[in-house]
Amino acid sequence: MKEIQEIFKAQIQHQYTLGNSSASQRINRLNALKKALETTFRIPLQEALFKDFKKPAIETDLTEIHPVISEIKLVKKQLKSWMQPQRVKSPLVFIGSSAYVHHEPKGVCLIISPWNFPVNLTFGPLVSAIAAGNTVMIKPSEMTPNTASVMADIVASIFKPEEVALFQGGVTVAQSLLSLPFNHIFFTGSPAVGKIVMNAAAKNLSSVTLELGGKSPTIVDASANIDQAAKKIAWGKFLNNGQICVAPDYLWVHESVKDAFVKAFIKHTTHFYTEQAAQSNDYSRIVNENHFQRLANHLEDAKKNGGIIEMGGHVEASENFISPTLISGLTADATLLKDEIFGPILPLKTFTEIEKVIDYINAGEKPLALYIFSKKPSHIKKVINNTRAGSTAINHSVVQYSNHHLPFGGSNNSGIGKAHGYFGFQEFSNQRSILKQFSFSAVEMLMPPYTPFKKKLSEWTTKWF
Ligand code: NAD
Repeated sequence: MKEIQEIFKAQIQHQYTLGNSSASQRINRLNALKKALETTFRIPLQEALFKDFKKPAIETDLTEIHPVISEIKLVKKQLKSWMQPQRVKSPLVFIGSSAYVHHEPKGVCLIISPWNFPVNLTFGPLVSAIAAGNTVMIKPSEMTPNTASVMADIVASIFKPEEVALFQGGVTVAQSLLSLPFNHIFFTGSPAVGKIVMNAAAKNLSSVTLELGGKSPTIVDASANIDQAAKKIAWGKFLNNGQICVAPDYLWVHESVKDAFVKAFIKHTTHFYTEQAAQSNDYSRIVNENHFQRLANHLEDAKKNGGIIEMGGHVEASENFISPTLISGLTADATLLKDEIFGPILPLKTFTEIEKVIDYINAGEKPLALYIFSKKPSHIKKVINNTRAGSTAINHSVVQYSNHHLPFGGSNNSGIGKAHGYFGFQEFSNQRSILKQFSFSAVEMLMPPYTPFKKKLSEWTTKWF
């Protein structure tokens, strides 16, 4: 695609001008983005997301616009200090020199984003990329086209194409972009496409951040506050219709509290969305027909594999609607226990020994998030120390994502690299090592020719420094 090539060339040429910008120049750009999100484009974004998957306006404010604003606020406070050279110590052998880490921009970056939080997961990384002084090309998801179109207007209203440019479209556009030798690629999406992106990046040795997904286990032990656990899990699961990378994917509930948990879970879900979630203005929809069908197939499969519907299970194809659903009794073959669910269906398994839960989790891929609801510090410690995950919330779900002082990302199958706040700034920067010699260098004493004295000195250096 000619336009992509031309803008890529323009960004290559412009990268040093942008890379040399001061903290306040970068913050000016971010202020413009903040203002656009808060004023001119707030309502158009709410309307676009409602058209795309009936997202309630308040959730657009809270889960799309607010996270980007809060990321910008943090950058405004910290960017000057993040950009300062960071002095490091020098061993005695480097006498006469000083050393520091200089954060330089990676250069020309590509951001490819998914549809489930299209604004948050496009402009969030953009904030970090701009803070670090990069030029950026963006490809949002084609599955939320109304939102992508408003985001294109936002970008065009603030940035020159040689700074930031957004390209709408699907796989073909993504592939054209991925053929270019970007300095860094920041991808958010599924592990399957993550592998395609990493493969393309390998051809140019572009560095990558991969923010992926997977199955996030949620444990409720016998000591937990069952009512609170049920409330927080129901909220984290059905927000955005379960289309959240860190949503609880499946539950492990201690056998002794299963009945109480199910009762509390139904109570809270009904309170959130009434008994007729289809009529609730606060309940989103599955993003499109394909994803609806994928989830409806899971429900059919569950019936054949021991599934007992504890709550919900109603589908309405014409509306891409599936009611909030809780299913117990599934056998190991059920597809709900194999694939990432990414929708409003929650399987529940019971346990008596926590060790079995740990073994089950460790037999699968490393999750993006792992949740534990417990009052027992020893249980919590045991689960954290004996499993691996991108993040964990103890006695809560999903909210760890929103603390931008924490790194956000997965581990292997759930991702590579970190986002948010300082970690996002680092991800879009190259940590350049700088050593400045300002007077006598002891290293000169170890240069050839290697006389017997220098050999002795070398032995002495190896031993003592
Ligand atoms: P996806 O991987 O299908 O698509 C993501 C992006 O990749 C889109 O822009 C799409 O156009 C592009 N794409 C799709 N196929 C491609 C190909 N063959 N080559 C190049 N680009 C291609 O993901 P999705 O369905 O949009 O999002 C859901 C997935 O994303 C889930 O697995 C979820 O867990 C994950 N996710 C992760 C995070 C996170 O922060 N870790 C956040 C949200 C979603």
